[in-house]
Amino acid sequence: MVDDNGHVLSRAQCPTDAERGYKEAFARIEQMLRGTFHVAGEKITGIGIGSTGPIDPFTGEFGEVNFFPAWRGENPVNDLSRTFQVTAAMENDADAAALAEAGWGAGRNKKRLIYITVGTGIGAGVIFDGHLYRGVDGAHPEIGHCLIDASGPPCSCGFHGCWESLAAGPAMVAWFESQMPKDYPHAAHLTAKRICELAGEGDTLAQQAVDREARYLGLGLANLITLFTPDAIVLGGSVMKSAVLFLETIRKTISGACRYVPFEKTELALASLGEDANLIGAARVWHHRFNPEGGSRA
Ligand SMILES: [Zn+2]
Repeated sequence: MVDDNGHVLSRAQCPTDAERGYKEAFARIEQMLRGTFHVAGEKITGIGIGSTGPIDPFTGEFGEVNFFPAWRGENPVNDLSRTFQVTAAMENDADAAALAEAGWGAGRNKKRLIYITVGTGIGAGVIFDGHLYRGVDGAHPEIGHCLIDASGPPCSCGFHGCWESLAAGPAMVAWFESQMPKDYPHAAHLTAKRICELAGEGDTLAQQAVDREARYLGLGLANLITLFTPDAIVLGGSVMKSAVLFLETIRKTISGACRYVPFEKTELALASLGEDANLIGAARVWHHRFNPEGGSRA
């Protein structure tokens, strides 16, 4: 539960357990929502949802979502508004976090804003003048799948060497594992976060992995700056928690690649809403759809 200024009043979470079916999941969602209203001691004015996609933001229907194959065609927007007698809205989760940073976070008062989240994948939301950019039929732009190196690894999108396949957290781990010697002492439980820690401890291979990651992050961001030259790009997601290790190389890559646009005017900002970005983003989805004057302006 989030108030009109983007502050979290109460929260609850549980695993999706998609295989138990939509009906059962909906019952759990309903129960958790009632619990959070009770804890916050407030009445709700609306419900916002940020979901992994593809989803239809206008009908509220799930498409062919990888993580919930059996939920295709289900409509939590209709079901929640009927159950709670309020308006509800759903957006792609990266768009939701972008709306939150634009309205209540690091992207406030930026006319042209791109939000990038780097974690298990690379997601993005594009916001111009407070409005979410959408493609045909409400399509969400899949910026994480723009091409960086056509000779790179294959991706489910159809490309070889798209940004996500080179620079998301799992790509960092895959590259590291392909390079590490057989007797490497820290081989167990490698994650992007762990590699960044090892780099901080002076591990040479981990430092190479960090340099490589920073270079690929920089190439993707340089593309965005050349294409859009936005006022700001806000960087979020679990991998960006280690942004301090990447920023110098990212800036160097951008300044070496974006000479036809005033690249130095695009501010690189770190996401400011932290762990709650997705939750606050879900609330902002509702404001963006039904109450554009509410809260701080996006
Ligand atoms: Zn891809």
